[in-house]
Amino acid sequence: MREFVPERWVERGHVEGIKAYIAITKGCNNHCSFCIVPQTRGREVSRSPESILQEARAAIDKGARELWLLGQNVNSYRAAGEYGFYELLDEISQLDGLIRLRFTSPHPRDWNNRLSDLMAERKTICKQLHLPFQAGSDAVLQAMRRRHTLQDYLGKVDYLQQRAPGVEISTDLIVGFPGETEADFECTLHALGQVRFSQVFPFKYSPRPGTAAAKLADDVPRQAKEERLARVIALQEHINEEQQRALIGTEQDVLIDAVHPREPDLMNGRTDGYRAVTVAVGPHEIGDLVRVRITDSRGHWLYAEAE
Ligand code: SF4
Repeated sequence: MREFVPERWVERGHVEGIKAYIAITKGCNNHCSFCIVPQTRGREVSRSPESILQEARAAIDKGARELWLLGQNVNSYRAAGEYGFYELLDEISQLDGLIRLRFTSPHPRDWNNRLSDLMAERKTICKQLHLPFQAGSDAVLQAMRRRHTLQDYLGKVDYLQQRAPGVEISTDLIVGFPGETEADFECTLHALGQVRFSQVFPFKYSPRPGTAAAKLADDVPRQAKEERLARVIALQEHINEEQQRALIGTEQDVLIDAVHPREPDLMNGRTDGYRAVTVAVGPHEIGDLVRVRITDSRGHWLYAEAE
């Protein structure tokens, strides 16, 4: 364990608006072949739970309503003995005054059904998980050194979706990794259709100097990478449109985090699953948790009226 954030943040809380971002780990012990983080940030260190809880309480006292726990591989957090990410989530999610708790980014290998159970059962832990799966083919996952198979990933996600219906799952994705065939890529598309992510952050592979993957032949032609990227974006846009439309008419809890930049009578906020919403009819204040009915959807934005 090592304390690596400024002492004044721990004591006074580092709050931006109604949110506070708390680094709980730094560095990474994984060796994904495309990633430079282990070289730039070093081996993973975790802060003590006491220091994290002190910072979380200070942030809530200072007005934070939503806490974000941060780490390159946030769910491999480990303090002394058996105290790990589950225990930390369990404690922080029960702090007085906290409305929402989010974290990013977990690694699929360190995600487990026990964490899914806690997420499903604890109201303050948002039903939102950014769980990068990167590629849908086991051959590519192995070349990426992700140390899990697609089936491992899908099994964990399926369990969470059963336990917490409506949970929103997002991912990062790399297309055109060295050796990725058309058949490999179609596994990725198939996985997108199966999981139905709320958001996908796709990247065209390009070698990062100093990584293991940079030693591999960058053998997927640029045009194929671009075409695959376009297919991912098109499929995800279609899925997103269906998901947004399905939300019209539903009730959601929105945490108000800002006044609308052009319409001072409207407020903006996020659903539990992290979808952006503009809420009409007030009065609300920043930091209010408001029950709304979704009335419309445009692109990636929802519109709602307070109940
Ligand atoms: S991609 Fe994430 S888990 Fe993999 S080495 Fe980089 S920081 Fe670590």
